[in-house]
Amino acid sequence: MRTAVVVGAGIGGLAAAGGLARSGWQVTLLERDDRIRAGGTALILWPNAVRALESLGISDGLAAIATPLPDTGVRRPDGQWLVQPRIGGTRLPVVVHSDDLHDALVAGLGDRVEIRTGAAVRSVRANPGDRPAVGDGRHTYEADIVVAADGIDSAVRQRLAPESTVVSSGCAAWRAVIPWYRAPRLPGDVPVRGETLGAGYRFVAASLGERGSAGASTRGGIYWIATAAGAPRPESPATQLTLLRRWFSDWHAPVGDLLAATEPDDLVQQEVRELRPLPRGYGFPAGTGGFVLLGDAAHAMPHHLGQGACLALEDAATLRSVLREVVPGQQAQAAVETYSRMRRPRAVTVVRQTRRMSAVLQTRGRLALRARDAALGTISPRLMSSAATAAAAWKPPA
Ligand SMILES: Cc1cc2nc3c(=O)[nH]c(=O)nc-3n(C[C@H](O)[C@H](O)[C@H](O)COP(=O)(O)OP(=O)(O)OC[C@H]3O[C@@H](n4cnc5c(N)ncnc54)[C@H](O)[C@@H]3O)c2cc1C
Repeated sequence: MRTAVVVGAGIGGLAAAGGLARSGWQVTLLERDDRIRAGGTALILWPNAVRALESLGISDGLAAIATPLPDTGVRRPDGQWLVQPRIGGTRLPVVVHSDDLHDALVAGLGDRVEIRTGAAVRSVRANPGDRPAVGDGRHTYEADIVVAADGIDSAVRQRLAPESTVVSSGCAAWRAVIPWYRAPRLPGDVPVRGETLGAGYRFVAASLGERGSAGASTRGGIYWIATAAGAPRPESPATQLTLLRRWFSDWHAPVGDLLAATEPDDLVQQEVRELRPLPRGYGFPAGTGGFVLLGDAAHAMPHHLGQGACLALEDAATLRSVLREVVPGQQAQAAVETYSRMRRPRAVTVVRQTRRMSAVLQTRGRLALRARDAALGTISPRLMSSAATAAAAWKPPA
């Protein structure tokens, strides 16, 4: 029996565990929390993520939970276009409620995945001659393959790739889903969706559709995400919401309407952090197979291109593909190295594009802003379209 331990039951870990189980691996999924839970907000999934889900065999329900996101262009806070929307073109990204995606991934685990909650991995045994193993202080979990999908602060990565450290990206983000029954009624000429860039601030909104309507989240509502340069705010959610309403007070509609309809309990604040440098490799052969890094554990990046979870799904699809036919031993060790060779250059490319976007998004000061606005007309469409092309171009390995 081929065995795998997956550490972390976020999007990446759930996708990897389900994918490996469907390829005949006996999987143990370790999660430090007392239950497996979703983020409670929403995610934008680019076509690369949708292809990864298809390749993992868990895309069946996607049409029912995903709302297409047409290109909305980019505006200034006064409503003027910085970048006009493109009409037509390639496959569109979609927006999904995190709980819906989570439910789909949990359903994809099947009955070959043993789930252990309350298991916080603290130790790693990675000796060339020993079977890979991790421990939570009470138990040691041995397997042919250990998948580190334990997020940006990954305990496994800290042991295997200590050169990579977590740093602040210099901004904080707030996300909320306004449930469908509290969504503001907007005039017909004010679209819900859109992206707006100000001096050190950004606001993105997307509709999750009406609950139960075709092609919409089963939960419905409006998703928005606000980003502000600077540190996270220590105040209560109610005060944070007051601050957000003040920062975005003179922005074009519907930004103010959405913030007015948001309640403190809807708000999720996150410090935006990233890995610098990226780990030198994503595969570490050992014993009968080895360790791999996946998702934010491998390549946490700022959210500006909305690619973190997409890459985690790509990782999971690639891992399933390289491990599908292998047997423990040299073959599995070679597969671990193949995974690293396939995934690291891809992550480096997307992280590089994301960092260029960070510089554009965090511009502050009147002169710098004017230069940015002038440059955005040429730089950003190129940047955004190259990011979109890179995303759309990725195909799961055969
Ligand atoms: C504001 C914001 C907006 C974003 N928007 C998008 C978007 O629109 N599209 C997109 O693709 N990406 C987006 N992202 C990125 C995306 O959220 C992440 O890249 C993705 O969730 C990473 O998933 P993961 O499974 O790798 O890690 P995580 O979701 O962090 O999951 C890690 C899991 O491991 C568990 N764990 C941690 N340590 C241990 C341990 N020692 N032992 C056992 N379990 C452990 C955790 O409890 C957790 O369940 C956004 C990020 C932010 C901050």
